[in-house]
Formats: sequence, C-alpha cells, structure tokens
Amino acid sequence: MDFQWTPEQQALRDQVRRLCAGFSDDYWHEQDVKHEFPETFYQAVAQGGWLGIAMPEEYGGAGLGVTEAALVLQEIAASGGCAAAASSVHMNIFGVNPLVAHGTPEQKAAQLPGIIHGRTKVAFGVTEPDVGLDTTHLKTRAVREGDRYRVNGRKIWISTAQEAHKILLLARTTPLEEVKRPTDGLSLFFTDLNREAIEIREILKCGRHAVDSNELFIDDLMVPVGDRIGEEGKGFKYILDGLNPERILIAAEAIGVGRVALQHATRYAKERVVFGRPIGQNQAIQHPLAQCWASLEAANLLTFKAAWLYDTGQPCGAEANAAKLLAADAGFAAADRAMQTLGGMGYAQEFHVERYWRESKMYRIAPITPELILSYIAERVLGLPKSY
Ligand SMILES: Cc1cc2nc3c(=O)[nH]c(=O)nc-3n(C[C@H](O)[C@H](O)[C@H](O)COP(=O)(O)OP(=O)(O)OC[C@H]3O[C@@H](n4cnc5c(N)ncnc54)[C@H](O)[C@@H]3O)c2cc1C
Repeated sequence: MDFQWTPEQQALRDQVRRLCAGFSDDYWHEQDVKHEFPETFYQAVAQGGWLGIAMPEEYGGAGLGVTEAALVLQEIAASGGCAAAASSVHMNIFGVNPLVAHGTPEQKAAQLPGIIHGRTKVAFGVTEPDVGLDTTHLKTRAVREGDRYRVNGRKIWISTAQEAHKILLLARTTPLEEVKRPTDGLSLFFTDLNREAIEIREILKCGRHAVDSNELFIDDLMVPVGDRIGEEGKGFKYILDGLNPERILIAAEAIGVGRVALQHATRYAKERVVFGRPIGQNQAIQHPLAQCWASLEAANLLTFKAAWLYDTGQPCGAEANAAKLLAADAGFAAADRAMQTLGGMGYAQEFHVERYWRESKMYRIAPITPELILSYIAERVLGLPKSY
C-alpha cells in the first residue's frame, strides 16, 4: 500500500495551486454577486492544459486518470473558488466521458479538441421536472424522422446552459411500455444547444451564482442521427458508466470546499480575541474544527481509494458512492462550522465563508442525494431488498 502522491502528482497539485492563486476570494465573490461566468478563470485553466487532464492524448489531452482529474478539481475548489470554480470546468474535464468512451472516432475528432482547448462549453441534460432521481422515467422524447430525431420535452437544473455551445442530452427513443427493462430505450446525443428550439430560463438559486442552472423547454429540436452517441436505446448505460468517476470527482471537490472553509476558520480562531484570549483557545471552538479535519481526511482517503480502484480497472461503485456521501457531509459540516467559528462575521459576505457554506450545500443534493446513495449501499453492498 502506498499513500504517497507521486512526484508528478505533487507537481500537478502545486501547479494548479499556483494557477488558482491568481484568482482570489474577491474575484470569486465578485463573480458570485454579478452572477457572471468566470470566463477568465476558465480560459486560464484551458491555457494551462488542465481541461484535457483525463482526455485521450490523440485528441490533445494528457491521458491521465481520474486520480489526477480529482486532484485538479480538488485544488480548484480548495482555492476559494469552491463549487463555482469547479463547475465552470468540470464538464470539460470529465463530463463528456460518454463521448470519450462511446463516441465514434469521427465524433471525437470533431468535438474533443474544442472541449480540451476551452473553445466548446458543454451542458449535461438529464434531470427533468416531473421525474427527479427516477431517471428511467424521463419524458423527453426523441422520435426518428429519416436521418434526424425530433426532440421534445423539458429539462431542469441544467448547469451552464446560458454559456454552453453543446449539450449531452438523454431522451427516450422507445416508449417505456415497449421496452423490456426501463433502462432500455433511452438514447444519448451530443448536439448543438440550439437556442431556436430550446428556450433556456435561468433558475434563481441558493449559491454557486457564477455558474448558471436552468430550465430547458425543448420544442421540435432536430438532431442529426450522427449526433447520437453509440447505439440507439443504450444511452442510460453510457451515462451509468460515467457515474462512478463522477462521484469521485464531486467528492474531491466537496473536500476542497471543506478544506478552504476550515483554513479560514482556523486562521480566524487564532486571531480573534474575545474575553482576553483567542477564541481558538476554547475547546468548544477547537474540538469541532479538529473533528472537521478528521472527517475531511477520512473522506479524502476513501475518495482516492475509489479513484485508484477506477484507474486500475477494478469495481468501485461502493467506494465511489460512499466517498461522495462522506465527502459532501464533511465538506458541508466544515463550512457550517467555519461559519459558526466566525460568529457574526461568518454571516458577512466580506469574509467569504457564507459563500463556501452555500456552495458546499449543493454537494449534498447534486448530482445525487445522500438518501439515494444510502439506498444503493443498502441494496448493492449489504444485499438488503431494493427500497424504490
Ligand atoms: C445546483 C445544481 C446543479 C445541477 N446541475 C445539473 C446538470 O447540469 N444536469 C442535470 O441533469 N442535473 C443537474 N442537477 C440536478 C440534480 O442532479 C438533481 O437535483 C438531483 O439529482 C436530485 O434530483 P431532484 O432534485 O429531482 O430530487 P427528487 O428526485 O425530487 O427528490 C427529492 C428528495 O426526495 C428524496 N428521495 C427521492 N426518492 C427517494 C427514495 N426512493 N428514497 C429516499 N429518498 C428519496 C431525494 O433524496 C431528495 O432528497 C443540478 C442540481 C442542482 C441543485
């Protein structure tokens, strides 16, 4: 067993940390207040070559694993950019995995270089308003008409749709009543986010204001057959393939947010003097912060164990899900405790911790909730009866 980063991984972390140091808490505060996509940051990450960290080398990527992608996203989140910073580059770094894994060489040659070099932004279109986590029941329909599909339906919570050029879209091609299993008959498309056929309405939300989330109203969107990823009807499987690495990356980000929150809280606890001593001298302040450190480290171990399992081609569903569960909890607990430690100033935007807190909460909801992860572990790991 080896718990050390390789010199290359350590160097990678240092380089990303240096890049992120050019984007202060004040920068992220401003993007948050203005609800403005962090384009300068996004372009800096692209220019540094980090968007292609886990992309195939033949299309301009670095061909590294989920471990390295997780390290990059963790450093980005831990810089104070939090979920906004990570979400602005997340889709380019790993979100298009179904295209990488199941796209044709022509599709990849046409699309991946733009994604790797930051010219193409992509939205991920799965969630629907009337369906929620029950993805196989999604209602968006794609009906084949010659060499095109006519797509109609609604999506919700689709991040970066205000900015994106492309969308990875999951839609039903065979009605639910006509398939053997509900997971069959869904197809995946990588296509233009055509604003003439898709109305995009931004959702006002709790945090991560720099990266938009939206409702999509899809009305007779014509998608060329050549934009379909893989076989018709296998889209759900293609999405599933990418879920474990996705959980790992989200876990790494959530820990990053927890770490920066803990750092701010610790600094404040050393400096803030009340009753004639630093507040950090009180055990009621110290112990919860120490607990946060321990929880973040434990979640981090499981996160990178899951990454190692994935990168070495081993099953990692249990670990990836558990890592996401624990990391999101630990990240939110650290941000919450940081806010408490700062007292009134924890509630002031000037100290940034309230932004960390708002953004860390997101990881407890998206892309998967703790309830569903616990159901997965109960069923798949413990062998208990399926509950939903
Ligand atoms: C900021 C943000 C960004 C997002 N970005 C994207 C995106 O880019 N693309 C995209 O496709 N989606 C995106 N999502 C959607 C996200 O993945 C979903 O919100 C999430 O999966 C939860 O689904 P839901 O909101 O429909 O919850 P619901 O399915 O409505 O569930 C509501 C609650 O009930 C619980 N619940 C439901 N069923 C059960 C059960 N059987 N047992 C126990 N508890 C249950 C859930 O855990 C949850 O707590 C985003 C969401 C947010 C908040």
